[in-house]
Amino acid sequence: MGTLELDRLTKVFHDGEEGEIVAVDNVDIQMDDGEFIVVVGPSGCGKSTTLRMVAGLETVTSGNIRLDGRVVNDEKPQNRDIAMVFQSYALYPHMTVAENMAFGLEESTTLPDDEIEERVHDAAETMGIAELLDRKPSELSGGQQQRVALGRAIVRDPEVFLMDEPLSNLDAKLRSQMRTELQRLQAELDVTTMYVTHDQTEAMTMGDRIAILNDGKLQQVATPLECYHEPANQFVAGFIGDPSMNFFDMERDGDTLVGSRFEYPLSQSTLDDVGETRNVTLGVRPEDVEVGTDESGSHTYSAIVEVVEPMGDENTVYLRFESAPEGETFIATIDGLQQAAVGDRVTVSIPEETIHLFDGRSGEAVH
Ligand code: ATP
Repeated sequence: MGTLELDRLTKVFHDGEEGEIVAVDNVDIQMDDGEFIVVVGPSGCGKSTTLRMVAGLETVTSGNIRLDGRVVNDEKPQNRDIAMVFQSYALYPHMTVAENMAFGLEESTTLPDDEIEERVHDAAETMGIAELLDRKPSELSGGQQQRVALGRAIVRDPEVFLMDEPLSNLDAKLRSQMRTELQRLQAELDVTTMYVTHDQTEAMTMGDRIAILNDGKLQQVATPLECYHEPANQFVAGFIGDPSMNFFDMERDGDTLVGSRFEYPLSQSTLDDVGETRNVTLGVRPEDVEVGTDESGSHTYSAIVEVVEPMGDENTVYLRFESAPEGETFIATIDGLQQAAVGDRVTVSIPEETIHLFDGRSGEAVH
């Protein structure tokens, strides 16, 4: 078993100049045995600090870390049955690959030498690095070093893997290859894994669930698709999805949302969700903005094309409402074959079934 539970986990740093920094603020996450959770969020949101507390590399200010129900807050890192993989690989340069992989085991267990050797060999086979066991890290490519770092974690056969941006030093092609490989590996080994990244592609594609942090606070823990389709708040809505969701500040007037550039009438069921909220932020994903010439539908508006970025199968189009000044744009993604040229006047449609609405003050999703 390898359940991992973070219960109101909090870390406060005391910095001479800035005073108190609440790096991790009452974070609750419950992970099932074998689950893969990706912790994601912007720089400085507390991802690494969370992971380092779980690993035992950072003390806990308050709250609890439970491994299989047992509080491990004060246990030494080597007694936690956790293996961590770092962005920097952290390999010892003077040791061979085999020695690097065996090192953690020799330090923390009393396993006989032949069993350690067998485990190293098996892990090397799993990672496809068996022929590299006698080399030194300096004789390996970045991708191979990363495999060794992962192999070293596997050798320990831990209850939990912790990974802190393990792919960020690899080039784009290798990164996507290792992403697939890591997913395969995690499914095969079935080890509970907490994986930190700021890369939302990794978050969307790798995790059973995503935990999104901002400013030390947990914003949402849910499957990638739930975060995408049912974001808990405006922060999550803007963070997940590329290009980002468009947001418009609106004020409710009867059954219509009134913004500075356009008005948006709401159906009764949407109004029921909005309730008494007056300041509403309307969100629409670029892929849900329809661009064409048909002006007959509801929720259609005139716009001018400011910029077109051809991406191959899609075009990213920066549009501006006719009454808006230059540069005040919103984004639509359209089919790569659909024509759109800078300066064109087009009709955009924002279908009501695709919109997200947030409380303009708290940012919480209301629809
Ligand atoms: P990044 O993606 O840039 O690595 P992160 O989400 O991992 O960021 P953390 O490294 O966990 O963020 O940092 C969270 C906050 O805590 C930041 O404001 C950071 O400056 C602060 N912090 C981290 N370590 C310390 C420390 N040892 N002393 C003081 N403040 C710290």
